[in-house]
Amino acid sequence: MVSMIYDCVKKIIKPTILAAKSYHIADASGFVKLDAMENPYVWPEKIKDEWSRCLLQADLNRYPDAKSYELRRELTQAFNFSENTSMILGNGSDELIQIILMALNKNNNVVMVPEPSFVMYRLLSSMMELEFVGVPLNKDFSLDLSAMLESIEKKKPAVIFIAWPNNPTGNSFLEESLIEIINATTGLVVIDEAYHSFAQKSMMSYLHKYPNVLLMRTLSKLGLAGLRLGMLFGASEWISELDKLRLPYNIGTLNQISASFIIKNIGLLEQQAACIRHDREVLFNNLSEVVGVETWRSEANFILFRVPNPGADKVYKELIKKNILIKNLQGSHPLLENCLRVTVGTPEENKLFLSRLRNIVIAS
Ligand SMILES: *Cc1c(COP(=O)(O)O)cnc(C)c1O
Repeated sequence: MVSMIYDCVKKIIKPTILAAKSYHIADASGFVKLDAMENPYVWPEKIKDEWSRCLLQADLNRYPDAKSYELRRELTQAFNFSENTSMILGNGSDELIQIILMALNKNNNVVMVPEPSFVMYRLLSSMMELEFVGVPLNKDFSLDLSAMLESIEKKKPAVIFIAWPNNPTGNSFLEESLIEIINATTGLVVIDEAYHSFAQKSMMSYLHKYPNVLLMRTLSKLGLAGLRLGMLFGASEWISELDKLRLPYNIGTLNQISASFIIKNIGLLEQQAACIRHDREVLFNNLSEVVGVETWRSEANFILFRVPNPGADKVYKELIKKNILIKNLQGSHPLLENCLRVTVGTPEENKLFLSRLRNIVIAS
């Protein structure tokens, strides 16, 4: 029976999809969860009470505001975005990446990304059968500018995604190099500022200087991963076309109300981000002192590190046994040999992670 159904599935579903693996998300229940760049702090009870009262105003029999008009206005105010820049909202910035990729012209659909980087660029490109070109970073994870320029010349990409700071390496590429890339390409350059709250710098001003730049932000890493709200900025000529691909009600009423509520309390999230930035430095220093561990400075809310023997796979598994979940990057890119990525948690979580890691590295 099952195989009969699958025979039919195979005729209908694209081979690319059939061959793809589904995106694996580790089951985190019961773990100290340091794998997904979440903010580790919950809201105070008082804020939760106020929030739940806001939600009571929702009339779920009605469709949401299709353009999230009020929410976009509030976001513009809270984050000081320019009134002259157009913005659309996505169900996470993942959805905005998908929208950009869906818009590409069939005959001009090369997607270029310096790698290792955020996996969703590659994954979504492959699902949509676009040509994906990953240009390796240097060994120290800086941008290999000449390799990028050469690839741009050769491949004429329709779009280049730059995560700034980059995930999973945590560094921000040199601004001068990005300007060279923007000038060298006839395609679109999308700057993904998912970690803006931790890097505290932005290329937002580029939107007015360069007609081929778009910029993305998300509330996920700031502390609202469960909400799913991404923002895409750019010239109205770009944004109005991309908006046609956005499903009309992609931001539900509860999400709009919740986002409106929390950005009125944005100070709370910004305080938490400041704590995380501070704790990142403490974690970095302590991690660098673990014998044999190599670390890279991060401008995000996570740290990339390389372990000595017994290697990343073993360290990852041993940490799991000790109830700690981080991200194993072994096998995901040749430059990430024996690398792992840990999200900055609360000071207690960071200490626990460090002591268990030390035990594993020393025992072997
Ligand atoms: C986490 C991450 C995202 C995804 O953000 P969502 O808004 O949660 O979809 C996008 N880009 C980069 C570089 C990320 O690390």
